[in-house]
Amino acid sequence: MKILISNDDGYLAPGINALAEQLATIADIVVVAPDSNRSGSSNSLTLDRPLRVMRAANGFYSINGTPSDCVHIALTGILDTQPDLVVSGINQGQNMGDDTLYSGTVAAATEGFLFGIPAIAFSQVDYGWAHIEDAAKLAKDIVLRRLDELQTPYLLNVNIPNRPYGELNTVVATRLGKRHQSEPVIRSSDPHGNEIFWIGPPGQAKEASEGTDFHATSHGWVSMTPLQIDLTHSSQLERLKRVLR
Ligand code: MN
Repeated sequence: MKILISNDDGYLAPGINALAEQLATIADIVVVAPDSNRSGSSNSLTLDRPLRVMRAANGFYSINGTPSDCVHIALTGILDTQPDLVVSGINQGQNMGDDTLYSGTVAAATEGFLFGIPAIAFSQVDYGWAHIEDAAKLAKDIVLRRLDELQTPYLLNVNIPNRPYGELNTVVATRLGKRHQSEPVIRSSDPHGNEIFWIGPPGQAKEASEGTDFHATSHGWVSMTPLQIDLTHSSQLERLKRVLR
């Protein structure tokens, strides 16, 4: 098995290092990841400047671009053959509900999916990397699981509670929940007295009922959500057709 690994926290992040270490025991791995933290970059591609590929002493490739750039360049310019799987993460912080639209972690997996390759995005709930080795072991278990019965290619979004491996024994299939509107922007000023802004934190969970990713992880379970990229609002399309008639 050949696995392409990327992330959005950058190639030096503990999450991608722990993940690569575990997956190297079961597959041929290639790591291609951003050279800096590009969290929240969604599916953006860099089109206004050239991109450089560097190779670190441990064999990881880093690129001065986004997660989508990394997977795109890996698949079209670095790898000789297509990988069997694209894996992204392990992200520092959850990617649930509406987060998935902004997430660079999910985007790296999505880029593989759009190239017809099965893909899995892994995120760890909460911050701090306390149990990142445990999350990486669990990620390896999931990669080894029989997922070939799924419609291929599949795109899976996995959120892992920040707990010891022995407490990560329940994996549940979920749907995305929903968040409230984001917190307001944070206003401040720079040393010259000019006004500056920081994007505020995401809103709290709004739709966190049974069956959602929020509900699963709040119970300490590992959440797996199958994603698709078709954004067409089908019932609205029918209404629109009537309006335009
Ligand atoms: Mn991130």
